[in-house]
Amino acid sequence: MQWSWGRLMLGHDLPEELDEFLAAREDELIAFRRDLHAHPELGYHEHRTTSRVALRLAAAGLRPVILPKGTGMIVDIGDPSAGDTLVALRADLDALPINDEKNVSYRSTVPNTCHACGHDVHTSVLLGAGLFLAGQAAAGTLPGRVRLIFQPAEEVPGGALDVMAAGGIASVDRIFAVHCDPRLEVGKVGTRTGPITAACDKIRVRVSGPGGHTARPHLTADLVYALGKIVTELPAALSRRVDPRSSLSLVWGRVSAGSAANAIPDDGVAEGTVRCLDDEAWHEAPDLLKALIESVASAYGVIAELSYQRNVPPTVNEAVSTAILETAAAQVLGHEAITPSPQSLGGEDFAWYLESIPGTLARLGTRLPGSVEDFDIHQATFDVDERAIGVGVRLMAATALTALHAGGPPVPDQVPDTPRLSQRA
Ligand SMILES: [Zn+2]
Ligand SMILES: [Zn+2]
Repeated sequence: MQWSWGRLMLGHDLPEELDEFLAAREDELIAFRRDLHAHPELGYHEHRTTSRVALRLAAAGLRPVILPKGTGMIVDIGDPSAGDTLVALRADLDALPINDEKNVSYRSTVPNTCHACGHDVHTSVLLGAGLFLAGQAAAGTLPGRVRLIFQPAEEVPGGALDVMAAGGIASVDRIFAVHCDPRLEVGKVGTRTGPITAACDKIRVRVSGPGGHTARPHLTADLVYALGKIVTELPAALSRRVDPRSSLSLVWGRVSAGSAANAIPDDGVAEGTVRCLDDEAWHEAPDLLKALIESVASAYGVIAELSYQRNVPPTVNEAVSTAILETAAAQVLGHEAITPSPQSLGGEDFAWYLESIPGTLARLGTRLPGSVEDFDIHQATFDVDERAIGVGVRLMAATALTALHAGGPPVPDQVPDTPRLSQRA
């Protein structure tokens, strides 16, 4: 970061306070994570997980509010009289429909369900950060309020939309989250301004025509030829109609039409995915694809219908929030902990929050230093170096405090906006 956040630096005793907190609580948080790991629950079924988290928060004197669908919760820390700023920290609770293939004491006890995306770690980190911040609030040293969001169903996805529908971010100034990164060593934090995860939508194109004999394609509509044109010309046309820096890419996964060599079929279908790193291009993609498909189809006399299934937008990290998180990381983890994170073509429903309010998603290193095993998330053997939980607690607690000291918008004017395609040189 080229600009200075000196005025946001917190008291020099924060790292020591966090050391003290973790000396007392780290083992409990690791045990909490192992308990969640052994009892994973799929999206919208996180009842046990929700109740474990809620009980622990209530034991610390907090008042969690369960979301309307019965899983996930929101809990506010601090008194509005301490300041107007409200900063949110978010974790996700759900596991994946994958069988746990690890041989560890905390292996999943539920067949075909596993915390293979590290959401048990995110939940334990947020619990730890919340307990620390509750202590700060009790001591009268929290300069505003912090909202913990334990959301359900990130993998489904859509839990973020439930939080938003319940008013979970209505008065929130900034929002922060971390996601486990098994390629990054424990102790490291990956940050990025601008898009950090991608959009991935599904499309289905159905083509129909009158059908007929292959001897007389001129008397009907040559449906297979038209479908072939759509399949080959659409990706090429997109690359000339969309800014190449948005990395919008259409790749087909299934094409199907016809049943006999000498019969022109009356319908056919092509299915594929649209991935995109840029928010504006993602918003424009459905209309653009529809227009391109119709123009190719009409040239060959067939009718084409597009079904466009939206997944999540790209997660576009905002610059000020990213700088706040980096300032906090430098203070409690050291400058050397911060490393630039590459864009991922994976999706993350945290993106929905960032469509409405500023915030940032950081990568939390979970790789055991010197390990020869190459874990990836969504793998049946995925596991973490559990020291990442303590790192995450330090980062999230310090980020919330730094963001409260920074206050809500308006943002300091020396900080550039999040780069968008239209603003990039
Ligand atoms: Zn995942
Ligand atoms: Zn995940």
